[in-house]
Amino acid sequence: MSNQNLGLETQAIRTQLERTQYLEHSVPLYLTSSFIFEDAEDMRASFAEEKERNIYSRFSNPNTSEFVEKICLMEGAEDGYAFATGMAAVYSTFAALLNSGDHIVSASSVFGSTHTLFTKYFPKWNITTSYFDVNKPETIENFIQPNTKILYAESPTNPAVDILDLELLGKIAKKHNLILIIDNCFATPYIQNPIQFGADLVIHSATKLIDGQGRVLGGVTVGRSDLIREIYLFSRNTGPALSPFNAWVLSKSLETLPVRIEKHCENALKVAEFLENNPNVASVKYPFLKSHPQYEVAKKQMKLGGNIVAFEIKGGIEAGRKFLDKIKLCSLSANLGDTRSIVTHPASTTHSKLTEEERLAVSITDGLVRVSVGLETVQDVINDLKQALE
Ligand SMILES: *Cc1c(COP(=O)(O)O)cnc(C)c1O
Repeated sequence: MSNQNLGLETQAIRTQLERTQYLEHSVPLYLTSSFIFEDAEDMRASFAEEKERNIYSRFSNPNTSEFVEKICLMEGAEDGYAFATGMAAVYSTFAALLNSGDHIVSASSVFGSTHTLFTKYFPKWNITTSYFDVNKPETIENFIQPNTKILYAESPTNPAVDILDLELLGKIAKKHNLILIIDNCFATPYIQNPIQFGADLVIHSATKLIDGQGRVLGGVTVGRSDLIREIYLFSRNTGPALSPFNAWVLSKSLETLPVRIEKHCENALKVAEFLENNPNVASVKYPFLKSHPQYEVAKKQMKLGGNIVAFEIKGGIEAGRKFLDKIKLCSLSANLGDTRSIVTHPASTTHSKLTEEERLAVSITDGLVRVSVGLETVQDVINDLKQALE
């Protein structure tokens, strides 16, 4: 039976991994650094890659393979490789595919450490990046150079929850023969599948909604098998592999991803609707609110609106700081996509080192608050936000 024809929920639960002699129902944990060979010929053939088998857990392990197989099925990808963190996935993907002299065109608002890679580290190897405004995707082609190799974006973006039209990005990438890479972390494989719209590779920080319970870090890159082959060879030699234990945890997490995401999104929509009607809130951004500037695009490419709500508190930086201090139930944390709701105020925390002008270039206004809506009783979350806004 091919899992490709099964529903996404089934793909997240049932895998083809062979059982051991104990016929366990749930996939066991293979905590082993290496695997043994039958004889010299088996060892030779294994190293010559004449057979697919596990050799060493830096290359592959039954638990990491099972996790990757599920993500591939859910994303409609040919192949993948799992990493210790989301940033290991981002870094290794670029490092495996780029040469000195290559150029990246990236959305202006990307995850902070990804931005740091582009601005601080890649220039050391003569890899340069140009940024397009996420709200002006029609300008992307102006940034493409003869040496551009990768088009990179996240959607929804962090922390402003802007939406990029993936179909448009897919068309531009195809026309200019670029590798389109989408960091799909905020949407998860349940809500959005960028490969459908022309992405060549999809990256996830599994630390966020895929684990969803704030326990382990992990990352994964899936997509075109020829590109994954390069990423695999780079990674098996440089060592950013996901640990078998974390792979086992993340694979278990996937089994409940669909039901968790349904509830996260139901709660987030209620929080967004509450905020829209609060007098101390200037504006709210949530992909599935009609007021979102890219509502139509969001509806086209996303099954649900996600769990992140951004809003603009009246009164700027000071009001944002006061709001954080009054929060009682929600957590103040840099993480997101947890069962526990989390609030952040980027202008006074994560992005406080930037000038106001630099912040505005990445859509961070002084009063911007980001809520990662969790799985608590939603009225309790709303009550907490309400009292903090008063
Ligand atoms: C958190 C995050 C990352 C990095 O993932 P880690 O697992 O923390 O290394 C990358 N991209 C996005 C969009 C993220 O939110």
